[in-house]
Amino acid sequence: MQLTHLHQRLADLGALPVHRERIIRSWIQGKPLSTGTSRREAQHFLPLSVRNALPQLTADLDNLARIRSQHPGADGSARLLVDLPDGQMIESVLLPRDGVCVSSQVGCAVACRFCMTGKSGLLRQVSSLEIVAQVVQARRLRPVKKVVFMGMGEPAHNLDNVLEAIDLLGTYGGIGHKNLVFSTVGDLRVFERLPTLRVKPALALSLHTTKADLREHLLPKAPKISPRDLAELSEDYARRVGYPIQVQWTLLKDINDGQEELEALADLYRGKYAVINLIPFNSLEGDHYQRPSGERIVEIVRHLNSRGILTKVRNSAGQDVDGGCGQLRARAIDTPRK
Ligand code: SF4
Repeated sequence: MQLTHLHQRLADLGALPVHRERIIRSWIQGKPLSTGTSRREAQHFLPLSVRNALPQLTADLDNLARIRSQHPGADGSARLLVDLPDGQMIESVLLPRDGVCVSSQVGCAVACRFCMTGKSGLLRQVSSLEIVAQVVQARRLRPVKKVVFMGMGEPAHNLDNVLEAIDLLGTYGGIGHKNLVFSTVGDLRVFERLPTLRVKPALALSLHTTKADLREHLLPKAPKISPRDLAELSEDYARRVGYPIQVQWTLLKDINDGQEELEALADLYRGKYAVINLIPFNSLEGDHYQRPSGERIVEIVRHLNSRGILTKVRNSAGQDVDGGCGQLRARAIDTPRK
């Protein structure tokens, strides 16, 4: 079901635009479907045909993203295995402090070497309503005030659906615009489209290295835009919207944690409106990458901060249940249906 189909279905039942908006708003906010007004008003204003159709509509919307199983982590996060209507599966992650990380694609075509999702290639796009449905399901489990598009998939490769979901969440879903975080490896279409939106999300840029050739190796199918150009393009957007770029840097031992790389990173981001998020690599089956030692990570943070580069360590939520960055892959084998 696409958003246009949902509108058409409600219109065919005789719902006025104001009713359609209220019904969609109720759904996105995780409430029972109604016009959003009192029961008496709803009964008065809603055509009987719409009222009679609400139970089936509720069932159809619920079916857009069904939680197959939950895997709570020790840090308050939880990995959710989610069934889509056609039998495909994705994963969402409930984050500590009222956040949820959603998937925008089944699989991913970028094929980052340190990511499980990329190993399967792209299987299909996730529709805007399927993205929103992940938030609705999360809201039934706990409050959601932040939505990050950092689950399975590269949001830039499913741009129309992701932007429609962002618009719905920012207008009807009660999520602050800077709490919607569009994460990308960097794509010119993103820098063209985001500034034109009525809901302008925060931007996370998966940079990982300042070296163009190493980046090409680590992110083989990412657009060939130089790290310097990516930094400039994202800086323009950050200044425009008034919230900093979140630069994502998966820390890989002996690959992008050396002194030369740190100096280049400090040079690239000096004076820029950005925060560097260091994400120590999360272990994957059968991979040879490692994360630097705890001491080295502390050293890196101190060094970058001393160079005036705001730097934080983001230990991925849910690592112990394979829900951390790079670990999502919608595994069904070890997760029996509840
Ligand atoms: Fe795709 Fe992101 Fe994984 Fe890279 S890290 S393969 S962009 S899901």
